[in-house]
Amino acid sequence: MELEFYGAAREVTGSCHILRINGKTVLLDCGMFQGKRSDSEQKNRTLPVPISEIDSVVLSHAHIDHSGRLPYLIAEGYTKTIWATAATRDLSAVMLADSAHIQEKDAEFLAKRKKEFIEPLYGTRHSVRTMELMVAVPYNKPFDVVPGVQGCYVDAGHILGSASVILDCVENGRQRRLVFSGDVGRSGLAIIRDPVPPKGAHELIMESTYGDRDHESVDGARARLAQVVRDTASRGGRILIPAFAVGRTQEIIYNLHSLIRESAIPSIPIYVDSPLAIDTTTVFEMHPETFDQTEDMVRKVRELFDFPLIHFTRTVEESKALAHINGPMVIIAASGMAEAGRILHHLALGASDPRNTILIVGFQAEHTLGRRIVERSPILKIFGEEVPLRANVEIINGYSAHADRTELAKWLDAVKAGSPELSAVHLVHGEPHAQDALKTTLVAKGYNVSCPEPHTRVAF
Ligand SMILES: [Zn+2]
Ligand SMILES: [Zn+2]
Repeated sequence: MELEFYGAAREVTGSCHILRINGKTVLLDCGMFQGKRSDSEQKNRTLPVPISEIDSVVLSHAHIDHSGRLPYLIAEGYTKTIWATAATRDLSAVMLADSAHIQEKDAEFLAKRKKEFIEPLYGTRHSVRTMELMVAVPYNKPFDVVPGVQGCYVDAGHILGSASVILDCVENGRQRRLVFSGDVGRSGLAIIRDPVPPKGAHELIMESTYGDRDHESVDGARARLAQVVRDTASRGGRILIPAFAVGRTQEIIYNLHSLIRESAIPSIPIYVDSPLAIDTTTVFEMHPETFDQTEDMVRKVRELFDFPLIHFTRTVEESKALAHINGPMVIIAASGMAEAGRILHHLALGASDPRNTILIVGFQAEHTLGRRIVERSPILKIFGEEVPLRANVEIINGYSAHADRTELAKWLDAVKAGSPELSAVHLVHGEPHAQDALKTTLVAKGYNVSCPEPHTRVAF
């Protein structure tokens, strides 16, 4: 049996690892490469292996950097099974439809500029077909991936439906347990259950996104959120939150809901101004079986995302009308790095008002508007106009959906405690500086660690 590292190798996006066993080939994830357009365009249009060789796909979770190229496989002729948890399947239906729409719009835009036909990476019909091939399996219940490989999903605690994957492999009578961490979440994150480190691993593929830093505590993040809302409301300002549609948005809604119930923040209206976030919130509501029943509010409250102060604005008219409402309010809108989406309209209008707060709750990549806000650049460029940044800027890192350096090491220690025969740890899904830092930490603890480059092959 052999592993080949393909995507998210020495980088964060494009998650895809190839398992070859008994003459069969299995893909773990098939994610979109994101980043500089020219580089990622080329990578996204290159297949990891010829379609005819792929026998099965096992998906860890619905984030586009893990699932985004599945419709491309379908466009190229893939017709076999894609495994996922039930919540991942439902989230993927929403997110891949959105992704297909973006691909079609992008191609249209490029075609106009270049004055030639541009084939989108894939279209809506491919995202629909992807869902037909996606088979949902419950957590902790084994499923047959290909002959000689049995899969099993356990909680990864990262986003709704997210999983670490256990693959029990048998070849020529030899048994090995391969574990793929998927993206590992933080313990104590609201709503979803905490990560469950798998046991009995021989070979481990592990994410390393935040391998070089620690986050603030989950409780600390919630307390700071309350403080930001109180301060801004007392000035009569707006709290503008750029947020990813999946995960972050629901965490913030849930926290605001619980803070209102405790009267820890004033009763001001909360607007979720993103159709995709509204749809993904609906998927959350469909999967209470995945919620963390140790949390007080999860046990006591039936409608976690629906309460009198919250408003979901779906249409463009409803979104525009927010500009004419006076008084303090919270507006949560995509995109998470303020590169696109409705948050841009709210920032164009609100960034110059010192009563307002722009609240950053997620990672902001270089060259994004979100990063310039974090750096408190005095002038922002929005829709080609210069907007002075006079609003208060607050950054809360505790809402990260990823385990930090300490939490990753703790997760691995727990895997090791249940895996006396663990022989190798392969770090993926991290920028080189984060991976190298984590590798140093883990090697010092006695682990055999590698940071494989793309196309590295490992027999196990
Ligand atoms: Zn993820
Ligand atoms: Zn990821």
